[in-house]
Order: sequence, then structure tokens, then C-alpha cells
Amino acid sequence: MLKSHHIEINYKQFEKFGKQAVIDIIKHELCHYHLHLESKGYQHRDKDFKELSKQVGAPRYCTPVQSYAERVNYVYQCKKCGVKFPRIRKVDTRRRVCGQCGGRLKLAEGRK
Ligand SMILES: [Zn+2]
Ligand SMILES: [Zn+2]
Repeated sequence: MLKSHHIEINYKQFEKFGKQAVIDIIKHELCHYHLHLESKGYQHRDKDFKELSKQVGAPRYCTPVQSYAERVNYVYQCKKCGVKFPRIRKVDTRRRVCGQCGGRLKLAEGRK
């Protein structure tokens, strides 16, 4: 992103998060851009970046954080009561049991 000095706005982000989110992304990208041109600390962890982004009211990170639901890769289901447990990471079904009834879990949906 910084190598080309291009500011990338993903259309998906616009569709999904709306105008304000895109303005935030632009502000954020401009912070990188500006500091990079001035040979200042332009990375997220740099003090210059933190200060500038605070000053202009830009978010500290490039993209809005995905919701938990979007990050779910596995859905487990209790064999006994049928309750579903969406999980980001794999669960050891031999060890983990249903939080509701203590029944065994099975993988209902794998990684999409
Ligand atoms: Zn960034
Ligand atoms: Zn259960």
C-alpha cells in the first residue's frame, strides 16, 4: 500500500460499512501517507502515527474490524440438545462438551 502511495478503498467496505467508515478509512490512509512522505513514523505502532490519527479523529487501524459472525469458521452442535456453537477456531470435540447440557459436540459446518 505504501510503496505505491495509492490509497485503496475497497468497494466492499463502502457497501458494507457505509460512508462514515470510508471517510474514516481515507483519514487513516492519509495519516500513513502524510507521515510517510515526511519520513516520520507512519506505522500503526509509531508514536507519530498514533498522535496524528488521534488529532484528525481517524481510527488506528485500516479496516473496520469484522464482526464475530463473519469470523466464524466452524459451527459445532450438541448431539443431545441440538444447541449450536459458532467458533472461530477448531474445538476438540473429544474434550469439549455442550455448555447447556454436557452432551457431546459434533461439527455441523466446517470452514466456509
Ligand atoms: Zn493502516
Ligand atoms: Zn447440549
